[in-house]
Amino acid sequence: MKAYPTIVKDLIEKIKRLPGLGGKSAERLTLYLINAPAYEAESLAEAIIKVKRELTLCQRCFHLAEGDLCTICSDPSRNKEEICVVETVSDLIAIEQTGIFKGLYHVLHGALNPIENVGPDEIHLRELVERVHREPVREVIIATNPSAQGEVTAHYILKLLQNEKVKVTRIGFGIPMGGDIKYVDKMTISQAILGRRPFE
Ligand SMILES: [Zn+2]
Repeated sequence: MKAYPTIVKDLIEKIKRLPGLGGKSAERLTLYLINAPAYEAESLAEAIIKVKRELTLCQRCFHLAEGDLCTICSDPSRNKEEICVVETVSDLIAIEQTGIFKGLYHVLHGALNPIENVGPDEIHLRELVERVHREPVREVIIATNPSAQGEVTAHYILKLLQNEKVKVTRIGFGIPMGGDIKYVDKMTISQAILGRRPFE
């Protein structure tokens, strides 16, 4: 490290902070960028700036978006009568990659966690109820994780929706207890969606 000019050391340090990259990988990536054509390194830097400046959350479902609505909410072919509730954008992406679900989503951006002071107001629960009132929703599929927090959140949603005219289902789990949807294979996620059952 000592042998590098300061600006190079600085870049290595910054890349090292990214998840999953150790010092060796950071050094290798930095050297790659140094040797890459200027346009390649510049377009990477610009893409990062663009994402940080222009990325928003969808006003309807809180998925990542460029503008008011995400690509899923603005797709007229999606079934607006089904809303699949997930904890994170990564969970949405994992379900979306199976291709099995054709409805809309609702991203909570977390799960209830009394120990860490995450209450109903910290995740997008109120907006879910508002959507059920405003949109032609017939089924809410709860796809929170099969963890303690995910289960608490699922039961809380059920309570919130108990007097609403919607069917509430929970995904069927082949996903192990304590598991996380975003790390589960496509086949298991597909089975979990198809095997959803009334949640009471
Ligand atoms: Zn959306």
